[in-house]
Amino acid sequence: MSTEIETDIEPMTSPRPRMLPPPLQPLQALSWNYWWSWAPDGNEVFRDLDPALWQQCEQNPRTLLAQISDLRLAQVAADPAFADRVQRLSAKFSAYLSDTGPWPKLQLAPRITPENPVAYFCAEFGIHNSLPLYSGGLGILAGDHLKSASDLNLPLVAVGLFYRFGYFRQRLRRDGWQEEIYRENHSDELALHLVNDAEESPRLIEVVMRGRVVRAQVWRADVGRVRLYLLDTNVAENDPTDRLVTGHLYGGDRETRLVQEMMLGIGGSRLLQELGIDPGVFHLNEGHSAFLTLDLARELIEREGLSFAAAADRVRERCVFTTHTPVAAGHDEFEAALVQKCFGDWPETALGLAREEFLKLGRGNGDANGSFGLTPLALRMCRSTNGVSRKHGEVSRELWRKMWPDLSAGDVPITSITNGVHPSTWVAPLLRRLYEQRVGADWIERARDANVWAYGVERISDEELWQAHSLLKQRLVAYVRDHSFDARLARGENEDYIEAARTMFDPQILTIGFARRVAGYKRWDLLLSDPEQLTKLINDPDRPIQFVFAGKAHPQDQEAKPVLQKLIEWQRDSSVRHRVAFIEDYDQETARQLVQAVDVWMNVPRRPMEASGTSGQKVAINGGLNFSVLDGWWLEAYDGDNGFAIGDLSELTDEEADRREAESMYTILTEEVAARYYDHDDGAIPRRWVAMMKRSMQTLVPLFSSDRMVAEYAERIY
Ligand SMILES: *Cc1c(COP(=O)(O)O)cnc(C)c1O
Repeated sequence: MSTEIETDIEPMTSPRPRMLPPPLQPLQALSWNYWWSWAPDGNEVFRDLDPALWQQCEQNPRTLLAQISDLRLAQVAADPAFADRVQRLSAKFSAYLSDTGPWPKLQLAPRITPENPVAYFCAEFGIHNSLPLYSGGLGILAGDHLKSASDLNLPLVAVGLFYRFGYFRQRLRRDGWQEEIYRENHSDELALHLVNDAEESPRLIEVVMRGRVVRAQVWRADVGRVRLYLLDTNVAENDPTDRLVTGHLYGGDRETRLVQEMMLGIGGSRLLQELGIDPGVFHLNEGHSAFLTLDLARELIEREGLSFAAAADRVRERCVFTTHTPVAAGHDEFEAALVQKCFGDWPETALGLAREEFLKLGRGNGDANGSFGLTPLALRMCRSTNGVSRKHGEVSRELWRKMWPDLSAGDVPITSITNGVHPSTWVAPLLRRLYEQRVGADWIERARDANVWAYGVERISDEELWQAHSLLKQRLVAYVRDHSFDARLARGENEDYIEAARTMFDPQILTIGFARRVAGYKRWDLLLSDPEQLTKLINDPDRPIQFVFAGKAHPQDQEAKPVLQKLIEWQRDSSVRHRVAFIEDYDQETARQLVQAVDVWMNVPRRPMEASGTSGQKVAINGGLNFSVLDGWWLEAYDGDNGFAIGDLSELTDEEADRREAESMYTILTEEVAARYYDHDDGAIPRRWVAMMKRSMQTLVPLFSSDRMVAEYAERIY
């Protein structure tokens, strides 16, 4: 791996407790709960304390409050308008925390109560970019799930891992090659509480792996009313190798991945027992945590002397599973010898299973040999399985029908719940204001009734919507220039090229965003399949187009990195570089900047490999239009008038699909997208475009919010 570890960087703060002037004191409590990150004016209050420092601290209120100067604190404390904002935010926070009544419309199964909450397990959580414990879509989805659970008052606790080095930060070399940098997460700079035992010493969770006892301390993050527990093996009592079990997210070799997943599943199960939490249901969000089911069985066997089969029946009643991967190769699997090495004799001693019986739990039916897969294990040990869009449900039933050899694919018991996004997290403040004014202060709840919502959005005038969107685009242009300038300077580019960043991009021009992982099936290369035509489109004198890109390639993905490099090289060409930008290090903050401001969000996955996709849903809340292949969520969302579809649903070979969909992409881009965007009298409002923005908001926001998603899990699955 060409990785670089920045372990020697100075921690950003001395963790001295800071006395704030009285009007600002509520900021301490606010900074300890990630609620601020989606509360109206939450971001803005912290930002306005010291905007430059806020950016430097990467939007982390804990470091901001530690580093802000006494002078600046005294200044803002003496500003009555600012003190009022802090007061209002703090009052809202208190009201939010104390409102513990059940959400009126949530019909919960009696097994879920505050004493028996949902336990939600995931390998990554994207709560906010200042808590970098996520790599992409799965983590962001988990973060949005927790926020909606909190908003809806669903009793839920979450379990994950604290990665000392998180996921990598992306830097591009001058030749366009991606480099990975790992930065250490310092727990004392984050809003994390160390969980102690009754004697006030750190609670340690123990799991035997590779023949050694591995211990994990536990951090707690507060996400509104939801508690997120994170296991961390970086403790002095551990063997040095074991301290790195939770070192990197998706960074190590297969063995590291396996022991990581043992810690998540088995350690997580024990953690909840230690804390006296007795969940009504365990939700395995993706297979990474599937070993949890085995530890639950172990506990029953120990306590009640059950056989494994009887224990498994009981475990199954309490566990539900969400699969996220539509291709066989994407499912986590481990070689039998490795499983043997890491588990040792535990299957025998704890579960009473012979080696072969144990290995069979992780194999598809009829696979005599072969690897141990976490998806087969989860399918066997959970009472419910779902995919993350209707199409993905269908694909999963086909993919896993071998687990139910007597059933036809249509009868395979895998259902689907389509992913959604957390509106308060993703909406731009300007749009939020418009919704509050025109739809109502309770616009998010109203959005749950599609008719009420549609009527409310109708009340937004074309003028005010277009004006808000234009301001957001200006903000994006400034952001693109700023980032490009800094990145070019940091890479030591030549002066002209650095200087050119100051004038690149234009807020009047049709702006297309394309940001996602650089993975084969996302087909980043489709856009560049005809570079000449693309260059012509970008520079069309009447209907120019500009593109903003962002995305990371997995460090070990040697096919993705050259694709990224090719795009970067093309983007530097003098014929397009004023209208094409690549923003390094795609994260939640970059995503927010892009989804809140682009005119169009483009997505060209190879069908049917986009299980759902969620970034386009974030765009819809902000009035942007989707321009996508009919796959994942877009397949069920597109109605002919609420955005643009690339290609159709024909069954094609990969090569045919690439050719036909590239052609469709170029044609629709000019004949429909650009034509509609530029259909206005000079400087005036593009009425047909704005009508489509509204139609997109009306039809998509109610369906693709994480409130709807979590309510569906609560009512149909939990
Ligand atoms: C929303 C989001 C994703 C997931 O987007 P997809 O549409 O699934 O590609 C990935 N990364 C970040 C930072 C996001 O905000």
